[in-house]
Formats: sequence, C-alpha cells, structure tokens
Amino acid sequence: MSKQAANMQSILRNLPSVDALIKAEKARAIENEVGAEHLSKLAREAIETLRANLLAQEDSLSVSSREELLAKSENNLLSLYQQEKQAGVKHVINASGVIVHTNLGRAPLSETAKQAITEEASRYCALEYDLATGKRGKRGEQVEELLKELTGAEDALVVNNCAAAALLILTVLAKGGEVIVSRGELVEIGGDFRVPDVMTQSGARLVEVGTTNRTKLSDYERAVTENTRVIMRVHPSNYRIVGFTATPSLEEIAQLAHEKSLPLYEDAGSGALIDLKPYGLDGEPAISQSITAGADIVSFSGDKLLGAVQSGLIVGRSEYINRVRRFPMYRALRADKLAYAALEATLKSYLRGNAVEEIPVLKMLSMTFEQLQKRATAFVKRLKKKVSTNGLRIDIIEGESAIGGGSAPTTHPRTSLIALTHETLNANILEEVLRKNSPPIITRIIDDCVVIDLRTVFEEEEHELFSALVKLNEHN
Ligand SMILES: *Cc1c(COP(=O)(O)O)cnc(C)c1O
Repeated sequence: MSKQAANMQSILRNLPSVDALIKAEKARAIENEVGAEHLSKLAREAIETLRANLLAQEDSLSVSSREELLAKSENNLLSLYQQEKQAGVKHVINASGVIVHTNLGRAPLSETAKQAITEEASRYCALEYDLATGKRGKRGEQVEELLKELTGAEDALVVNNCAAAALLILTVLAKGGEVIVSRGELVEIGGDFRVPDVMTQSGARLVEVGTTNRTKLSDYERAVTENTRVIMRVHPSNYRIVGFTATPSLEEIAQLAHEKSLPLYEDAGSGALIDLKPYGLDGEPAISQSITAGADIVSFSGDKLLGAVQSGLIVGRSEYINRVRRFPMYRALRADKLAYAALEATLKSYLRGNAVEEIPVLKMLSMTFEQLQKRATAFVKRLKKKVSTNGLRIDIIEGESAIGGGSAPTTHPRTSLIALTHETLNANILEEVLRKNSPPIITRIIDDCVVIDLRTVFEEEEHELFSALVKLNEHN
C-alpha cells in the first residue's frame, strides 16, 4: 500500500459512525422535527458526502482528527436539513410581476376562498349531504349552480383540471369519430397539453382544416362527413398569429355546426367570467359570450384568469353535459372538496360584483401604473432610509408585468419596477440570495439588475420583502 493510500485509510477510519453523528448536539437539536428514523437517513447521507469529498481530494488531504470530521459531518447534516426545509410546496413572495405564474402555483386564492378551505372543507362538510332533508346530496351542486348563473349556460360540471375536461369531453362526444379543428388552433399549452395528443388519447380522429394563419367557414363545411362528431374551437391561449389572418367567428361556426346537427365545443383555456378589456386583455372573451354565440359545450381552467384553484370547468347544453356527467371516466377525474369550497367562494365574489376587489389575480391585473409607481416610490423611500451606507443601489424604473399562465402573451401591463444593483455582488448573486431568503423572494433579472415588481407582491408581504432587502444590503 502506498503511503498516500495508507494515509487516506487512517483518515477514513476517523469518520464518525451514524450513531455518533445522531448523538451530536446539532443532530439532537433537529431530531424532534424530522423524526429519529429520518435523522439516521440524513446522518448516513451526511457521512457519505464527507467520505466522497475526502476521496475526491486525496492528494491535497491533511490529516483530520475524529473531532474535526464529526464537526464536518454535523455541518453536512445541517445543510441537508436546510435543503429539505426549503423544498416542497412552500410559500414564496412573487416579486416577478408574472400574475398567473405557472411555476408558482398559478392563481393565489382570495381571502374568502382561503377561509372556505380552512373553515369549511378542511373539516367535516356537507359535500354530498343535503342539510334540508338529511339525505344524500349532490356533490358540487352549488358550484354548478353558480357557474350556470355566471355564464348563462344550461348546465355545468367540474373536473380536476382543464386538460381532464378536454379529454373527457372529446372521449364522451367523439370517441371513434372525427373532430374538426382549424390548423391555426393545434396548439401546445404549457405543461404538455397538446391538442393533437389529447385527441389521440380520447380515441377521436383529428381532422385538420384551413392553414396555420387562415381558416374559412367553407373549410369547416367541406370537412364535415357522416363520421364527424364535434367541431372544436381551441383558444390559442399562449400564442398569437398576427398579420394576414382570418378565422370565422364563433357564431358562424356554431351556425354551421347546428345546421349539420353537430355540437360545437370550445376549449376556452383561461376563461374570463367578466369582461377583461378594461385591463388590456382583448383576446379573452367572457365565457358567457361563447354561450351566447352558440357554443354547445365550453371548458376552461379554474386557476388561470378566473383566480381560483386547479379545476376544469365545463358549461353548456344539458344534453351534452349530462352525457359527460354519466360517463364513468368523470368519476376518475372529479374535483375534491377543497377545490369545490374555493370555487364556491371565488364564484360568489363574481356574483356579488366584487371580483376585481376580492380576487387577487384580477386585483393585480387592474392595478394602474400610477398606483404601482406610488407604491414603489413609498417603499423605496422607506428602504433608502435604512440602507444608505452599504453597497446596495436602489432605483425605480419603468417596465412591464406579464399575465402568465399561458394567457394573453401580447398583453404587458405597464409597471413600476424597483431595480437593485450592488457594488460588489452581481445580479445573479442578488437573485440567489433573495431566492434563498425565508420566505423565498422570486425576482427577475433585466440588464444586470434584479427587479422587483410590487404588482404581484401582497401588501402584507411587503415587510418581509423590506427586511430581506435590508439584509441583502448587509450581505457580503
Ligand atoms: C391552460 C389550457 C389548458 C390546460 O388547462 P389546465 O387547467 O392546465 O389543465 C387547456 N386548453 C387551453 C386552451 C388552455 O389555455
């Protein structure tokens, strides 16, 4: 054995045992929180990491005592514990200005929706129980009634998400037959929802008509055969074709579908329940408009612009909705009680006419540049009083927020951004420090500046953001 190898062996012999490590002070401090068994697992990992590190630096190794190696293992254990603590579904401050941020859980919930989850649905609740008669009730009835009232549709149904809704509708209405879709609408929505793939899964055959940029009513008409089951319209959500384009109106397609005794199905994607034009979104017509225009069945997401929880909402004619409701796959895709509770509360905000005040995504969308500028200015003024000495530089610049969630890709509401630069730390480091804050703060980097958009930061989160920036100023 070479001298070096012998040296290594004696060092490795000094590594602590799992038993020794879990008895160390730092390990005992976290035992209650993680549980004894999991602590042993973390301890094994911590020692393994240290062993691997030692072997990797074979040449430059200096002899370490038992005590030193135990201390290093303890530190490894602690950092594994910290990493785990940061993982999972954890609250973050969204300072990115992306309102329906797909990676941050899409829509944050309204106060009444949160209350409905904690006060009602998280305890025993009358989910399928009729309190008037004491008999079995219908699951989701209240949400269905609200959806009918808000969209003007005859009937409504809720499933787990909009992708599930599309799959279910196409399976029930078109399995074994043909579905006509314009080539301009064969889109992929984030998270692997692809219209042609959903079609394949449903067992229906996709019949493409028109071209990418132009589709005429006569294209649809010519494609109708005795095997056609559905004409489908897909909201292109996350992308826009501009320039030399044409597509028939929903009314025209509906009229054609009905002449041919076919249902028109619209996958509306985001699904606005109120007119969002005043907030700069002109490509998101309200679901009620689709119903008025003659769509027979419409699906949309509950957690995009609607501002509630993950769910797929289906509205339309009773004849079709009932077929979907009775189909066995519906049972496999149904929504849970937490979703129903949050939907109920959110839809009631619309009914009261208070949606824009009460539902966070709409509230954020409706904030004006002037309001945001005022908020940013006040925040920065307070901050500058605290951070006048160290290396952080704070400016206010004009910029754009985004809708996100695969909606309205061309709408960029004007906003006021807090731009951060640092004498010695570059933007990537600033971004990382904020991301690793507790709670994590998610920012954007523009031109080597970290920017904070208060549009998506709740007012009650401002003090945590403030403390994090004060700390950032002292960071070196
Ligand atoms: C977002 C979207 C979907 C998928 O909705 P999920 O709720 O994410 O399942 C389907 N179709 C369109 C047009 C969409 O915009």
